[in-house]
Amino acid sequence: MKYDVTVIGAGGGGYPGAFRLAKSGYNVLMADPKGELGGNCLYSGCVPSKTVREMVQLIWRTSRVLKQEIKVDFERIQDHKDFVQETRFKQHKRELSEYSSITFYKGVIKIKDPNHVVVKTEDKEIEAETRYIIIASGSEPFKPQFPGSEYCITSDDLYSYKTPLRKLPQDMVIIGGGYIAIETASIFNILGVKTHLLVRGDRVLRGFEDEIVNTLLPILKLDIIYNAPILEVKKIKEDEFEVIYSSKDGAKKSIRTNLVLLATGRKPVLPEGIENTGIALDKRGYIVIDNAMRTNLPNVFATGDVNGKAPYFHAAVRMSIAAAYNIMANGSPIDYVDYKSIPVTIYSVPSASYVGIMPSEAKRMGIEIMEATYNMEDEVMAQMYDEREGMLKLIFEKGSLRLIGAWMVGVHSQYLINELGQAVLHGLTAKQLASFADQHPSTNEIIAYAARKVL
Ligand code: ADP
Repeated sequence: MKYDVTVIGAGGGGYPGAFRLAKSGYNVLMADPKGELGGNCLYSGCVPSKTVREMVQLIWRTSRVLKQEIKVDFERIQDHKDFVQETRFKQHKRELSEYSSITFYKGVIKIKDPNHVVVKTEDKEIEAETRYIIIASGSEPFKPQFPGSEYCITSDDLYSYKTPLRKLPQDMVIIGGGYIAIETASIFNILGVKTHLLVRGDRVLRGFEDEIVNTLLPILKLDIIYNAPILEVKKIKEDEFEVIYSSKDGAKKSIRTNLVLLATGRKPVLPEGIENTGIALDKRGYIVIDNAMRTNLPNVFATGDVNGKAPYFHAAVRMSIAAAYNIMANGSPIDYVDYKSIPVTIYSVPSASYVGIMPSEAKRMGIEIMEATYNMEDEVMAQMYDEREGMLKLIFEKGSLRLIGAWMVGVHSQYLINELGQAVLHGLTAKQLASFADQHPSTNEIIAYAARKVL
């Protein structure tokens, strides 16, 4: 068989580009071992974890505001999570059926050479010739090896479709200090699980601006044990483990717990055969690309988590579309991804979000800035929910007053950051932000309120 484009993986980095290409008459071959569209994000990542988070927040918010205890059955929350996943699997099936020029297999794709691939399904192997390849094979949790690491679960086990994990532990140790660790601790704390974070170094949320971390952490009140590298996990009995770690002074310490979650980062998933193609990888094993998603081979593109640029579903979608446009331009780069304007959110309760250039980065880059802040104490929705902690900060370039970045901790940060990301991407100024009548009452109003402060 001959195809115009082969798409390896049907997650956010895969299917949006496949749809775009098919819409323009391209013949597309796509495969994914899940046999569903949506990738790890839908199967075990962002969608199920955020479904659980939304349920938890609703319950928590209502019980706090009305001062009434609400009993939760975790099994029901997990049922709802499965339902949302199922709904989206069906939706994607319908969407896929609208593109007759996409051939989709449940299976994995092996690269033979830059113009030949093999699709391996359960019962057959299909060889195909292809003009272009988009590698969108994503990433998976990185599991460090230590004695007893086999007793640890990952976020995939918590959230995968139909997971058997449907009962809450009383106590949970989370190894790691990245955003998945913080989100999970925040959510499971609210569910009544006593969580402890074991962090190897002396800070959490590496890569996030200090002032965001310093605003968020006091609100979350997590039990974080710093400078505590893991030594061993011992199984005491069913659902009981002893987690042994080294404390700052070098002494061995331990915690008895019912569940140990590894949240120690992710690593790229590379298709078989890539090693024979000469596709360049970086030191961490991610595929090297430029802003147009091109690898060092002219007909091979790599989108989404597999290139390590911005490991978020929405970033993968944007990259997938860019790769499609660039393929449609015969491989010349007509669409570039601006990673800086891709918003990032820590979905703890409350959430924390940022987009663009942060103050410390602006300083390093020699950009003079003006900052404008708004305290969540005075924000109307925060008052309705009685969740008045956090703040918004807008970062403008001095002189032009163009918005170059923003961060926010507090109610609805995950929604406001989209509007702020649009503003950063399109270079909107304080005056333009200040002159927009955001609907009242909505948290978005504080963008204009803050912008007016620098005018
Ligand atoms: P992204 O958001 O970057 O698209 P995901 O990790 O969500 O990343 O999705 C990647 C998908 O690619 C997963 O569903 C994974 O099973 C699939 N995949 C990984 N390797 C292959 C392969 N060799 N062939 C086909 N699909 C693959």
